[in-house]
Parts: sequence; C-alpha cells; structure tokens
Amino acid sequence: MSRFFVTTPIYYGNDAPHVGSAYSTVNADALARWHRLVGDETLFLTGTDEHGQKVADSAEQQGLSPQAWTDQTAQRFIEAWDDLNISNDDFIRTSERRHHESVQKFLTKIYENGFIYKDVYEGLYCVSCEDYYTPEALVNGNCPVHERPVITMQEENWFFRLSAFEDKLLQYYEEHPTFTTPQTKFNEAISFVKGGLKDISITRTSITWGITVPWDEKHVFYVWYDALINYLTAIGYGSDHDEVEKWWPSSNHIVGKEIIRFHCVWWPAMCMAAGLEPPAHVHVHGWLLVGGKKLGKSMASDVGIKLTDIAPRTLTAEFGVDPIRYYLLRETPFGNDGEFSFEGIIARYNTDLANNLGNLVARVATVVGSKCDGRGRAPTIDAELRAVANEVVQQVGAAWEEFAPHRALEAAWQLIGAANADLEKHAPWKMESGPEVDAVMGNALEVLRLTAILISPAMPETAEKIWHRIGLQGSPADVSFRGEASWGRYPEGLLVEKGEPLFPRIKSDA
Ligand SMILES: [Zn+2]
Repeated sequence: MSRFFVTTPIYYGNDAPHVGSAYSTVNADALARWHRLVGDETLFLTGTDEHGQKVADSAEQQGLSPQAWTDQTAQRFIEAWDDLNISNDDFIRTSERRHHESVQKFLTKIYENGFIYKDVYEGLYCVSCEDYYTPEALVNGNCPVHERPVITMQEENWFFRLSAFEDKLLQYYEEHPTFTTPQTKFNEAISFVKGGLKDISITRTSITWGITVPWDEKHVFYVWYDALINYLTAIGYGSDHDEVEKWWPSSNHIVGKEIIRFHCVWWPAMCMAAGLEPPAHVHVHGWLLVGGKKLGKSMASDVGIKLTDIAPRTLTAEFGVDPIRYYLLRETPFGNDGEFSFEGIIARYNTDLANNLGNLVARVATVVGSKCDGRGRAPTIDAELRAVANEVVQQVGAAWEEFAPHRALEAAWQLIGAANADLEKHAPWKMESGPEVDAVMGNALEVLRLTAILISPAMPETAEKIWHRIGLQGSPADVSFRGEASWGRYPEGLLVEKGEPLFPRIKSDA
C-alpha cells in the first residue's frame, strides 16, 4: 500500500477564508479523496498560521488576548472547510503547544548543527508599526501604513545560514526533477538559487506573540520559519519518531505561486540543515483573477470586488457545495492562472452539471421507471460504451496521479456525454419494453455507477446521491477503485429512484 501525505498552506489567521484559500483547499481535498479511493493510506493536513505582530495588533484592537483572538479566527476556517465538505484529517494551529514544541526542537537541531548564528540585522523600521520594511515596500520613502518616515534600525538577530545550501539545493533539484511542478515554477526556484542565496534573519526581539527561541529567550522566531514547520509538527516531529518516519519525506505541499521561495528554497534548506530529507513534492497552483461583472442574486454589488472579498459560504449558498467544488477543480488547469467569474460558474453549472450529468441521471430514472418497472438492468458485455468507459477510467486515474483534476473531470464528462449520445441514438423512450430497452438502460446505469466513482473525489455528495438513486448501498467513495471501476458490475434488479433534479438550471440573467 502506498502513502499519500498532502498539505495546504496554513492560512493566515488574520485573513478571512476566501475563494483563493478555498481553491488550494478544494484541490488538496480532491487529491486526498482520490488517494483514499485507490486505497492509499492518506493524511490530509490544513490549518492556520497564527503568530506575528499583525495578529497581536488585531487582537488588541478587538480587546482580546492574541490566543482568544486566534481561537475565533481559526474557527472561521474550520467552518469554511466544513461548508465545502473538506475531509482534512488534521487541522493544525501554530499557537498550539504541540507546534511550539516541534518548532523549538527543529530549530534547536539546526542551531546545534551550526546553521544558525547571531549577527546584527539592519533594516528600515517603522516605529509605529514596530516592523521592518524593504525599500520597495515604502511609499514615497514612508511607511505604507502610517505614511511617516521610517528609521534605520539595528538589532541583534539570529540568522539561518541559507547561503550554505546553494549547491546542495541545486544538486537536490537535479536529482529530483519532479520536486516542483509545473516545470515553469520549478525553473523560477532554480534561477533564484543560482542567483545566489543570502543568509536570512529568522528571529525578532520586537515581537512577543510568537515562539520563543529556546537558547535565547529575548527572541521569538519570525513567523515564516515557525509556520513552515507545521508540516512536521502534524506528524509528530520531536515526539513521535515512528510517525515522522512513516510520513516524511513523502509529502505533497500544495501552494500558491506567491510562496514558491518559502517552499522550494527555504523549506528544503531548513530540512537539510536539521538533518532531514526535503519534502518530496511541491505542487504550485496559479492565481484566480476576478473577471466578469455579473453576480449572483445574493451579491449586492459588483463594484471593485476582489477575490479576497468573496467568502466561500456566499458561493455555496448561491450555487451549492459540489457545483463550486466542480468549478474550482474543472475551470482552471492546475498550475495556470485562471479567471474566476460568476458567469463562468453559471456556464459550467448549466452546461456540464444541469444539461449533461443532471440530465443523464433524470433520463435514466424516467425511462427505467416507464419501461423497466423501476428496476435496474444489467449492462451488456459488447456495449459500445464499454470501450469509452475503460478508456475514461484510465484517463481519470492518470490525471489525478498527475495533479490534473481538470483533466480527470474532463475525461469523466466524456463518458457522461457518450452515454447521453447513446440514449439519443437508441431513443429507448420510443421503444416497447423488452430486451433492447433493457440493454440500453443497463449500459446507461453502468455509466452512472462508474461516473459516481470517478467524480467522488471532486463531488462527493453528488456521487453519493447518484449511487443511491440507482439503488446501490454504501458510498462510491468506499469501494475499491481497482476492483469496482471496470465495466459490468452494476447488478440487475435494483430499485431506481427518480428524485428531484440534481442541478436545476440557473437562469443566466438571474
Ligand atoms: Zn508604520
């Protein structure tokens, strides 16, 4: 049996969940569900990044302790992922004791290995923000928040000797040509390292809401170096050697393209410095950009709307959970930038879900009801659809393995389209009941059974509904993919239920 460890970035607690974070999380969820379906032992991790000055400031504005504030902010993510039917096995919060302990052990290991040293850090500092700025972040030479001059400040900091890992990283990249996908994003990381690595300051004395440096308690670790370690905390780094051995380094980090350097350069170097293998894979996705103007009926205004303004719950309330999951997975090839628009959601919904999948489910149930006494028929061995189905099953499997959910779904919809065409060709609704109708309907039912299995990682609720409507017990997510995803297993005689339309059409002028 294989193992599959998949992670999302941990989301910054001060930000509310939005379409961008939902995009990463739904992709990770579908992949985790796919790996469970093929019988892999799977661990799916997400969580929240809760330290740093901005979080402490927000807590103060709310009149709360940072811990009480992050208890609230983490809950927003837990609820958002619950809404989206996310099947994470663990939810890590960096303010948890288990994380503090792992971070301290991990960074102490790097310190003992000689890759952390003390030096003077000099930078541009806003006294009001109590934070450093890079020259590029300033606006007319002033703090972008306070619009006041910054000062040059010096403080003693602990530095990570990143420069020691240039050659080691380049060698690792060469030996692991699929470390980062897609290749264009991998190339970015490679050229960044080839351009030369500078040591980085990893502690602060001006912040208190963070993880204390165990060998120098005036300092806390800068939030990024604590956050990355969450992937190891969750598998028991420093407390459960067997779990770490079991899951590391075979991890799959799903990240947005804005955090390539953290995950493809700093993080593998930190692992090497601590004497660990770097993570196995970093899968980089693009950004969704808001396009289009038309909004759903519950959206009050479309003026200047940003992706980060759109709460996942607004979308699921408007369109349903599975249509949103489907849209996020299907519309944009993983790795590319994509456009997010309400017209796009409605078009996918009406075309793929209402007209194709929903229509197939409804037609099959109607004809089985009128011509087969509501009882399912068995598929035939020589069906034309059989060849299509076998081909599609192969394609879907290959696509999920290559982190290409859009291709997996595209392939599944080829089978749905072929089944609709087959029904139109035979027009069983015009025939007398008998063996010919039985054969056509048996084949269509078999397509629905296979479709339920194939789409279950992306649309778990819909898959289960289809499964039950054609009379099957249990859940398509619980079958053995290798055993069940092949033609000819739908049994004769099950009760087929008509039910409500799965995806009532949306009027596109709504
Ligand atoms: Zn400022």
